[in-house]
Amino acid sequence: MYCKNCGSEIDDQAVVCPKCGVLTSGKSQGLEPKTNTMAIVGLVMSFIFAIAGLICSIIARKQIRESGEKGMGLATAGLIISIVEIVLYFIVILIYVIVIAAALGSVVY
Ligand SMILES: [Zn+2]
Repeated sequence: MYCKNCGSEIDDQAVVCPKCGVLTSGKSQGLEPKTNTMAIVGLVMSFIFAIAGLICSIIARKQIRESGEKGMGLATAGLIISIVEIVLYFIVILIYVIVIAAALGSVVY
């Protein structure tokens, strides 16, 4: 980053500018919460592979609660989408089982 007083390039972690001694804005920038990466991964994965999306979203929600990062909405969305998909998978599998059982039943009788 650059010093807002003298414009010289200074370390991102620096609290004061080594050239002019003025307090940097680095501290307030550091407090700006970033979006949790795992929340984004979880949401994307929920569309591709529901179980991976579910696991990533649960991890993301835990990380966000601990770190105060942004992305709780994304993590919750990923979690809900994953659960809905898993429920739908079970319904589809159940329908297949019923259909196959009925087909086998009609062959037997
Ligand atoms: Zn300076």
